Amino acid sequence: MERRLGAGCKYRRPHGAAVQPAYSAAMNSTSNHALQVLTDRCVRCGLCLPHCPTYLQSRQEGDGPRGRIALTEALARGELAPTPRLQQHLDGCLSCRACEAVCPAQVRFGELMDRGRALLAVQRPARVRAARLASALLRSRPRRRALSLLLRVSRRLGLVGLARHGVFGRRLARAGALLPPVLAATAPLLPPVAAESDVLLFCGCVTELAEREVLEDAARLLTVAGYRVGAPAAQDCCGALLQHAGDLERARRLARRNLATFGGTGMVAAITSGCAASLRDYAWLVPEGGASFAARVHDVGWLLQRRVERLHFKPLPLRAAVHLPCTLRNVVGEDRAMERLLCAVPEITLEPLQPAQRCCGAAGLQIVTDAAAADRLLAGKLAAVRQRSPDLILSSNIGCSLHLAAGLSRAGLTTPVMHPLRLLAQQLQPAG
Ligand code: SF4
Ligand code: SF4
Repeated sequence: MERRLGAGCKYRRPHGAAVQPAYSAAMNSTSNHALQVLTDRCVRCGLCLPHCPTYLQSRQEGDGPRGRIALTEALARGELAPTPRLQQHLDGCLSCRACEAVCPAQVRFGELMDRGRALLAVQRPARVRAARLASALLRSRPRRRALSLLLRVSRRLGLVGLARHGVFGRRLARAGALLPPVLAATAPLLPPVAAESDVLLFCGCVTELAEREVLEDAARLLTVAGYRVGAPAAQDCCGALLQHAGDLERARRLARRNLATFGGTGMVAAITSGCAASLRDYAWLVPEGGASFAARVHDVGWLLQRRVERLHFKPLPLRAAVHLPCTLRNVVGEDRAMERLLCAVPEITLEPLQPAQRCCGAAGLQIVTDAAAADRLLAGKLAAVRQRSPDLILSSNIGCSLHLAAGLSRAGLTTPVMHPLRLLAQQLQPAG
């Protein structure tokens, strides 16, 4: 049987080959029915191909959205086995969702890919275990505190330097290079939730560790803009790592906890667009109540822009390159609001970090597991920084910021990377 995979595809089910029992069992599940509905939407028009960064690099059908949809469909039907090559095609997807944003048939590609990876999860327990371990380490505040302490001690003993030089293996070298200079040892100082809170701040585990002060900046900016902000103490991780590794059950459990914690009608604000995108995905991940919760989720920049007339900033005569993360552009869809908000700072010159519509290569754990691909995608952005020499780079997604900072450092470039809310809080004029 030949699948309709387009030119150049070599995937065929051998004539007469039996469907493997493990896959045919999966075929009957509710999840596979949902997957079938999703793949059926694709009309194979190929309009998404010129927008897919991985397809543009390899020009192979299996590395583009249309090919990945066909492979996932065949996998779900039990017509293809999860060979290493097939897994490579699906794993290569950055979940940037540029394809979803341009698809005329409104194929929900993010959901499709996560459900497809869930089919593969059984075949590769190590990958799922890695995501579970990372999630377990990052989710709890005491463990985060221990991690921060461990890092400080390791730095003092020179272990981080050794890791960066590859003494403990390639993956740890990569992880070491991505570490920010400081990991927060304490929780951010944020207002608790009160009866009148109309904005509930979602913190995010990596954000709390690496950008603690940005959370405090966000609360301050929102308060000056007239919102009554509160940060629910019992909030959990958004579940992105588990979701993209195919562990949908565990991701769903975290989502349900957050639904219970963020009850009510207040808007839910995230400072990291990756978290905001995952919270929006609760719409399909949690059938009961997920969609109404997702509709309340916004990027902090969008909320501030709605009340920009209440915010007054000091002039800042410098040139900033704005990196708009894929999650903010293609999933949350509030990238223009952040740009407009930054324009409220007098004398600042903004320019997009080119190539503006392309993923920088930071894509969840892939930033570590497929470093070569991540660096190939970053190369264009680094070339633009070298050519344009901006005074700083602004990015509202922690994964992109760490990837950009590590790449700049490797390239010998000293341009600082900053969260836009940090800049806005620094320029905020005192009220009155
Ligand atoms: S995902 Fe959408 S744009 Fe891409 S081939 Fe399918 S229908 Fe066309
Ligand atoms: S999510 Fe991004 S990388 Fe994956 S298929 Fe779509 S455009 Fe390509």
